[in-house]
This record gives sequence, structure tokens and C-alpha cells, in this order.
Amino acid sequence: MKRFMRSLLVPAILLLAGCYTVPETGRTAFILPVDDVAQGAAAFADIKAKEAVSADPAMNERVQRIGRRIATAVGNALPGAAWEFVVFDGGDTINAFALPGGKVGVYTGLIHLVASDDELAAVIGHEIAHVTARHGAERMSQGIIAAAGGAVLDAGTGDAKNRDLILAGYGLLAGGGMLAFSRAHESEADYIGIRYAAKAGYDPRAAISFWEKMTAAGSGPRLPVFLSTHPTHDRRIADLRKWMPEVLPIYEANRRQE
Ligand SMILES: [Zn+2]
Repeated sequence: MKRFMRSLLVPAILLLAGCYTVPETGRTAFILPVDDVAQGAAAFADIKAKEAVSADPAMNERVQRIGRRIATAVGNALPGAAWEFVVFDGGDTINAFALPGGKVGVYTGLIHLVASDDELAAVIGHEIAHVTARHGAERMSQGIIAAAGGAVLDAGTGDAKNRDLILAGYGLLAGGGMLAFSRAHESEADYIGIRYAAKAGYDPRAAISFWEKMTAAGSGPRLPVFLSTHPTHDRRIADLRKWMPEVLPIYEANRRQE
């Protein structure tokens, strides 16, 4: 009898799942009705309370300026977004992340590493793309479906356990570790990210120069945490090159006269 009930559970969960059309690619994703916007905002508040927020005026101005331009390029693809761009002072930590609701964190270590605003835009565009594509919510939904129900079905509610699920879904573990996105999600975020950067007037070729620099850095201990979870650099650089003929005209149409 118990087994019979369980056999009904997965179809029941799938009935609850909605179809989500990923912006820029048009891919259809199956996502459970989780309130990832509220969860993302709560998780971001937790991180701000725990991490050192940088007061460096130049770095904050830079991240705000680039972030706002990319947010404008995202347009209506992130309903309910209350954009927030925060610079974290994490010493040697080289990291950037984005959470549902338009919450973006960039670490000072990453800002020191990038050669230009275009490269910073490439990283921010990539992280925001994971959010507009709802990769974390999709991954979380897959996890819930795989677990066939259990106690996590109330994922829409706001308790701390569910917040941890959202964090894990977006690649951040509750303990501060990183969880790798799948290769398919990474590739999709690369594609969407360069389109956002180009629409915002940033040179999408900077994504290539950035990843080439990362490849040259090798896989030693200096490799940034969030990049070590982003596999197959050669493949990603090859894909980025392949997409350039498509995105360079977008950049040319939106580049700023300076
Ligand atoms: Zn990524």
C-alpha cells in the first residue's frame, strides 16, 4: 500500500510543476511552484549579515554601474526583481554569485582580477543568467522529484531549511561551499550571459579573454572557488567563439560612444 502511494507521488508532483520558458534560449524547463524570489531575498539578507560588505566607493560604483546596465538588458525576464548589487570584502576570495529576485554579490578579489569593465560584465552577466534561467529552481525541482516527495514538498515556505535548498540550488551551500552547476546549465548561462552583456553595451569578446586567463591560471590552489566549479574551460571557450558572430552585432548596436 505504501509503495502504491509512493508510485502516485511522482506523477502528482509533476502535475504541480509548471513549464518555464528560459529567456534568450526558449528552452522549456519543468519547475515546481517554489517562491524562489522570496527565498533568494532571504538568503541574500543572511549572506549580508554574515559576510563583510565593502564600503570601497570606487568598487561599489563600478559594480552598481555595470550591474544596473545588465539589469536593464534583462528587462522583463526577471519578474518581481528588486535588484541589489553588493560588493563583499572577502580578502583573497575570488567569487561572484546571483540569487533569485535580482540579488548579486561580487567579491573584491574578483574585481582585482578582471582586466576591464567588459570582463566584469561577462562574469556578472553569466551569474545573472543562471537566475533568469531559474537554474537553481530547476535543480531544486529535480531534486524534489527525485526524492519523490518526502518532507521537502513545502519548498515554497520560508523556513531556514528551505533557504538552504535554494542556496544549494544556486550553487552556494549553506556552509559557504560551492556546488557545481551541470554542464548544460553552465553552457546556457554562458550563452545568455554574453547576450546580456552585449545588450548592455559591453564587449562580449571579454568573456573569451576572461576564460583564457582562467585557463592560463591552471587548476592550482589560486584558482578561484567559483571557477573551479565551472568545468571544461576549453569547451566553453570554443562555444563562446562559435557564438560571437551572433552576439557581436548586438554589441555593435548597443555600444556606448565614449
Ligand atoms: Zn556558472
